[in-house]
Amino acid sequence: MAEPIYPWLTPYWQTLEHYLRQQRIPQAVLITGRAGIGKRQLAECFAASVLCERPSEAWLACGHCHACVLRRAGTHPDFIVLEPEAGKGLGIDSVRDLLARMALKPQFEGQRMILIDAADTLNPAAANAFLKGLEEPGERTTIIMVTDKPARLPITIRSRCQHIQITELDQAQIQTWLAQYQVTQVDALLALANGSPLRALDYHEKNYLALAEQLFDEWLSLRCERGHVNVVKIAENWLKQPVDAVILLDWICLWLVRLLKLFYGEKVQTGFDSALQEIKSQLELAQLCRYYQSVLEGRQLVLTQSNQQLLLEKLLIEWSQLGVKHG
Ligand SMILES: [Zn+2]
Repeated sequence: MAEPIYPWLTPYWQTLEHYLRQQRIPQAVLITGRAGIGKRQLAECFAASVLCERPSEAWLACGHCHACVLRRAGTHPDFIVLEPEAGKGLGIDSVRDLLARMALKPQFEGQRMILIDAADTLNPAAANAFLKGLEEPGERTTIIMVTDKPARLPITIRSRCQHIQITELDQAQIQTWLAQYQVTQVDALLALANGSPLRALDYHEKNYLALAEQLFDEWLSLRCERGHVNVVKIAENWLKQPVDAVILLDWICLWLVRLLKLFYGEKVQTGFDSALQEIKSQLELAQLCRYYQSVLEGRQLVLTQSNQQLLLEKLLIEWSQLGVKHG
C-alpha cells in the first residue's frame, strides 16, 4: 500500500519527488506552513520513500518491503524521530542523544533519515548543540525539520536547509477531500479550524461547530449581560466540555482576530461576524490588541499550567471588563 499524500500538498510533494527522482537527497530539509495541514505526514512520506527498497513509479513507499515493515513498526534503525512531549520543548538531552546516534554509521546501506517535529521548540541550548549536527550530519544522513513557527528557529539553522514553504492550499481540493467524509458546513468548520483541513475534519467528527457556537454566545453574554452572568461558573462549564483548554483559547483567539479584522474594515464573512460587528462599538482597538496579547500568552501558559480554571477565569473577567470605566 502506497502512503497517501494529501491532495492540497501535491505541489509541495512534487519538489520532494524531484529529489527522489534525481537521487539527490538534501542533507537538510525544512518544511514550514500553518498547523494542521499535514506537514508532518509529508515529511514522513518523504522519509518513507527514501528508506523504501521498492518505491512506486510515483516514488511513494511500497509499504511492505523490509524497510517499510520496520519503519511502520517504529523499529527502523535508520529512521529517527525527535518530537517534544506535550507541553514541553525539545531539550538539550534529546539533542545530545541524537548527536550520539548520528556519530555512528547508518546501520543499513541506504540513507538515514532524521525527522524533527515542532523544531521551533528546540530551546536555545538545544538549538545551539543541534547546529553542530546540522553542519556535520555524518554520512548518508538527511535531517527533515517540521514547524509552523519558522521565525522561532535560529537563522543559522534555517539557512542550512532546503526550505519547503507551504503557503497556498488549493481550496477546491480541500472542499472535495472534506466532502468524502460527509462533512457539511465546510466553510464554517474551516473558519473555526483556522483554515486547517485536518482540524476541520476532526472538529466535524467531534461536533465542535455546535459547541463553539454555544460557547461563543456565552462569551458574548459576558459583555452583553455583564453582571448577570457568573464568570466562575462559565469557566468551570467550559473546562467540563470534551475539548482541550488550548482549543478553547484558540477559539477565543479566532473570535478576537475576526473582531480585529472588522475593526480594520474587513467585511462580515464568518458566522461569528454579525454578532461581533454589534459589540465592536463598545470596544477600543488598543484595548482589544492588549487583550488579544493576554489570550495568546494564556494559550502558551495553558499547555503547562495546572490551574486552567484560574487562567480561564482571569481571561474571561478581563474580557467582560474591557472598555468598562471604573470609579
Ligand atoms: Zn517499501
